[in-house]
Amino acid sequence: MIKSDIIIFATVSQYPKALYFYYLQHCRIDNKITLMKNNTYIQLIKRLEDDGENITPIRQKIISILCTEVKPISSREILNKMTEEGVSVHRATVYRDIDFCEKRGLINSYMFKDKPVVFYEIAGEHHHHVICDVCGEIQIIFPNKIEKSIKDFEKDFLKSNNFKINSHRIKFYGQCDKCQ
Ligand SMILES: [Zn+2]
Ligand SMILES: [Zn+2]
Repeated sequence: MIKSDIIIFATVSQYPKALYFYYLQHCRIDNKITLMKNNTYIQLIKRLEDDGENITPIRQKIISILCTEVKPISSREILNKMTEEGVSVHRATVYRDIDFCEKRGLINSYMFKDKPVVFYEIAGEHHHHVICDVCGEIQIIFPNKIEKSIKDFEKDFLKSNNFKINSHRIKFYGQCDKCQ
């Protein structure tokens, strides 16, 4: 057993048994999930629990699927992944629960230039997106240097316009390594 599993067990075991077993079956075995993502999964489920919301298997599955992704994916892709894993579910239920998760702030939605589709990702650490104009590849970046300038801008903007900026989203468009 790797080290991260021990930490996860310690955290997961505080949760209801059904959730714990669901977690064992669907998440622990999937080695694509990093420790950070595992913790994000648990925190988001815990948030649902704290808010007194129903933790349905489909909601758990949506969150666990998005926890394994390194880039935003569409609702169609989420549905396909469920089907691939043999989860029998009606499309409308999945779409409704994706909507539910977004409204509760568990996941974020994004639109990208030239893409008539909404993409979803887990509401985790703040980051920006880089999108290839040619192949459509979406990458995630954690831009520390830019963030400092943005924070300064936000402070100045509050002073000069009396407008308090709470969040921002930045997308960079260009050509990826393969498409140049
Ligand atoms: Zn490309
Ligand atoms: Zn930022």
